[in-house]
Amino acid sequence: IGNVYRAELLFRARQNPHTPGKQVPEDTVRALWRDWVHLLRIGVETGQMMTMDDLDEESYRRAMAKREDRHWVYKREGLPCRVCGTHIVMEELGGRKLYWCPKDQK
Ligand SMILES: [Zn+2]
Repeated sequence: IGNVYRAELLFRARQNPHTPGKQVPEDTVRALWRDWVHLLRIGVETGQMMTMDDLDEESYRRAMAKREDRHWVYKREGLPCRVCGTHIVMEELGGRKLYWCPKDQK
């Protein structure tokens, strides 16, 4: 799935990244899959891993121009969460860097 989509999909679902897969409800898993399909379609159409929705015209233009403005949590460690303002955390999980919001992804 790729590291960017892993972090971004889990944030979009407000899913705690430490929850073992077997404990994630089936509805949540199916919603994650649908959201992945949605984001991949955008990625194919735009050529960018755009993981934010509902941006106004100016924000969309910025996001397409700069990666830092394109994601909810990916590579945003130490910066305020775009939803709640809590600092985004970065840690190693499965040998890859994981970015998440400890408040929104409880
Ligand atoms: Zn947050």
